[in-house]
Amino acid sequence: GTSTNGSGNNRDRLSELAARHLVQPWPVAGQIGDEARGLIRSGDGVYVQDEHGNRLIDGPAGMWCVNVGHRCKELADVLYDQAMALSYNSPWYTMSAPSAELAERLGKLAPGDLSHVFFTTGGSSAVESALRFMQFYNNVRGRPDKKLILSRGGAYHGSTYLSASLNGRPRDRDWMDGADHLVVKLTCPNPYRRPEGVSREAFTDWLVAEFEATIEEHGADRIGAFVGEPVMASGGVIIPPDDYLPRIAALCRKHDILYVSDEVVTAFGRLGHVFASKDVFGAQPDIITFAKGVTSGYFPLGGMMVSSRLFEELRRSNHPDAMYAHGLTYSSHPIGCAVAMKNLDLLEDGLLDHVREIAPYFLSQLKTLEELPLVGEVRGIGLMACVECVADHDSHNPLRLDTEVGQRIDAHCQDLGLLVRPLINMCVMSPPLTITRAQIDEMVRILREGITRTMADLRREGLWDG
Ligand code: PLP
Repeated sequence: GTSTNGSGNNRDRLSELAARHLVQPWPVAGQIGDEARGLIRSGDGVYVQDEHGNRLIDGPAGMWCVNVGHRCKELADVLYDQAMALSYNSPWYTMSAPSAELAERLGKLAPGDLSHVFFTTGGSSAVESALRFMQFYNNVRGRPDKKLILSRGGAYHGSTYLSASLNGRPRDRDWMDGADHLVVKLTCPNPYRRPEGVSREAFTDWLVAEFEATIEEHGADRIGAFVGEPVMASGGVIIPPDDYLPRIAALCRKHDILYVSDEVVTAFGRLGHVFASKDVFGAQPDIITFAKGVTSGYFPLGGMMVSSRLFEELRRSNHPDAMYAHGLTYSSHPIGCAVAMKNLDLLEDGLLDHVREIAPYFLSQLKTLEELPLVGEVRGIGLMACVECVADHDSHNPLRLDTEVGQRIDAHCQDLGLLVRPLINMCVMSPPLTITRAQIDEMVRILREGITRTMADLRREGLWDG
């Protein structure tokens, strides 16, 4: 049968089914439609169980999303109860109680006047909604040329056409098209890899000057939005220099450019707050996009918080009949909204406090890995961190072997009981927010051993002499 009790034969059978029929995300041409990935059988708290029955710490919390941890009975109960009460209603014509209640609650939690929410199915659709809203907003205001979008190197904003056009990580766009005529890319605000000749102290000024020069070059009357993650997540946990975001936000405000803060990863507790833009970085966005942690990954939900100022402008415009012709079948899904309400209860009943309390320990323990010669920098904030490997401390060059190093470390760590999410030469750690000190110790011990074994392998194979 199809039981998931994980016998070897069953595993082989599942791999065969997957390889024959299941197309995995982000496949390469040589394996597309012919690939089985590691089987995860179950999860409980910060742990998942793999195909061999091994217990692994879920280092990336799924994909930065399982914030309250796996097998949370409170969330599972709400999923069931809401499905039995009302499994779906059409947001075209009707509304549900959970959506109205969640909207009010998020409106109170979001910074400034971001008192309205539009719900989507995830992060890409949230960013896409924000971008289409910016286009609509400027059309209605009689500024049809004000549509360019500023994004940055290292960014990740999604996998729909327009959201993906903003992506700036190496390789994301090598073989994929994008709406390049709509997007202008700025320099990644990575203090560790600054442009030649720019000191750490002068870096913020340099980035702000670049932003101003870009406005000058293209014209404020042609730029509609700046989109940025407060902390670039998939780009390698890039924490911008102090003051950078408030200064960019001020420039946006001055030039009538919407500041869209993509909090798909940073919201809902990852940095110890429900939203991080204002509370952590002191920057007030016009729109915040979110997803992932809003339901701790128990139901696909995302959305955008929007400034009431923008809606007032639209209501007072000369085009009251202009339609924001945009909406999803699953906008305001009652099950997603009900799960998000309970998820917020859990965050507010101690989990946010726990993150703020334990984050310094998490970061200080990971920081000890900088002793290892393969490790160039450990950086982090809240419960998100990145261990970046380099061959040579002085040049900051990523290993020539960069594509392999993360995978090699991950393989060793999996043998030892830790799931890592390798990103080229980087190991990203963003565990469930419920992680304890003892579990942090276990995570760091395994990561240290995994990196140590990788160094030994590289030396033995003559690939590295660090
Ligand atoms: N924005 C950011 C910052 C993300 O990290 C992601 C996904 O990792 C997305 C958007 C896209 O979200 P989704 O995969 O839910 O569409």
